[in-house]
Amino acid sequence: MVELEFHGAAQTVTGSMHLLHLPGGPIALDCGLFQGRRGWSRRMNLSFPIRPGDLKAVLLSHAHIDHSGKIPQLFRDSFDGPIYATSATCDLCNVMLADSAHIHEEDARYWNAKRATSQADRIEPLYTLADARRAARNFRPVRYNRPVPFADGCTATYIEAGHILGSACILVEITRSATMRLLFTGDLGRSKMPILRDPANPLPEVDYLITESTYANRTHSDAPSMKQSLVRIINETSKAGGKVIIPAFSLGRTQHLIYCLSHALGDGSLKRLPIYVDSPLSVNVTGVFKKHPECYDKAAEDFWLEQGDVFGRGYVRYITDVEESKGLHRKKGPMIIISASGMCEVGRILHHLKNNVTDERNTVIIVGYQAQHTLGRRIVERNEEIRIFGTMYKLLARVEVMNGFSAHADMEDFAQLLGPIAPKLKGAFAVHGETAQLAAMSAILSNAGCRNVQAPAPGEKFSL
Ligand SMILES: [Zn+2]
Repeated sequence: MVELEFHGAAQTVTGSMHLLHLPGGPIALDCGLFQGRRGWSRRMNLSFPIRPGDLKAVLLSHAHIDHSGKIPQLFRDSFDGPIYATSATCDLCNVMLADSAHIHEEDARYWNAKRATSQADRIEPLYTLADARRAARNFRPVRYNRPVPFADGCTATYIEAGHILGSACILVEITRSATMRLLFTGDLGRSKMPILRDPANPLPEVDYLITESTYANRTHSDAPSMKQSLVRIINETSKAGGKVIIPAFSLGRTQHLIYCLSHALGDGSLKRLPIYVDSPLSVNVTGVFKKHPECYDKAAEDFWLEQGDVFGRGYVRYITDVEESKGLHRKKGPMIIISASGMCEVGRILHHLKNNVTDERNTVIIVGYQAQHTLGRRIVERNEEIRIFGTMYKLLARVEVMNGFSAHADMEDFAQLLGPIAPKLKGAFAVHGETAQLAAMSAILSNAGCRNVQAPAPGEKFSL
């Protein structure tokens, strides 16, 4: 008997992890970190639904931390199995998980030094750099569209998801007397997005589907019109003498922005101005993007062959040094600063926001999803005052929200990609969404002919 158990990203958008209980032992689809309010996320992150040592393998869809960020913790807690992922995902995780370990170590150090009220209140980091290094040794790169045996009678095939570099939907085939097929979308991307290939279409027909729902209730602007809007906003801000501050995830969004800006500078629509990418992680991740041109779409490949680089060589200053980062505040005049974290919770972006939100000439451009209770969400909601490092600042800068840069499928993409496979599904599970998005995904699949759509609660189990 095969059972599917939902642990993370069940009725929420972070902590992606689903367990497939097979006769030979459980395997995990993703192993992501919960992100959000400190107390809640720490509580959620401290435990696993099973003993990690019992787990046989992890099938990882892509390198975003909410899908991969608890992998080092598995190793800390005695797991020693393989993690299957595409080659680009393996390289990205190498960088992302080391960075995540560093954040957890710093967080524990800060808490113990400044906030802990007693010896009992002291905390250990969720995991350390040593755990991340151990995890890195167990990554097994797989190629797209080649079935990989991962357990007795079971294969996994990684299919282009078009979401970020290396992202995949995972087709799991379990053969006993008959073959049962399950497709896990991971995060699905969109067609015509910069750099990346489109998601595979058609997707394979399967018995069961686990699908993300992040933007199942939205329609995004298309990518070319987003580039035009971005350029218009930057030119307007620049004309007013202001700075453009863009909080952006280090992985994916930062590279998409630079690619768009490189094009706009090349075709003359964007006036030349200083562009800074101020985040050591973004710099490292961009290095991985440069290493994997085999994942680019045709347009990016052509641009790469022509220019030798698609990430702004000669236009963009990449900053890793702390002093140089601090020095940006003293520079006058229009400029673009792209910095992390994408939800404005930690990292150098906080300094840039603190230094710039009270000046109405400046613009903050929000280009990514902002979860509830984050500073990014408060900026999107245009709160009159926002708290940064414990101090309240008036939010006088212009705020522009551009969801069209999303690397997630929207309702039309979902209908197009999942609609054709919906009628033959025995069951579909909508995950990775809040209540409204899960309801929208249920409607998309039901309208396309799927008669059994669930939005599983954490801990819920289903026999397949
Ligand atoms: Zn993702």
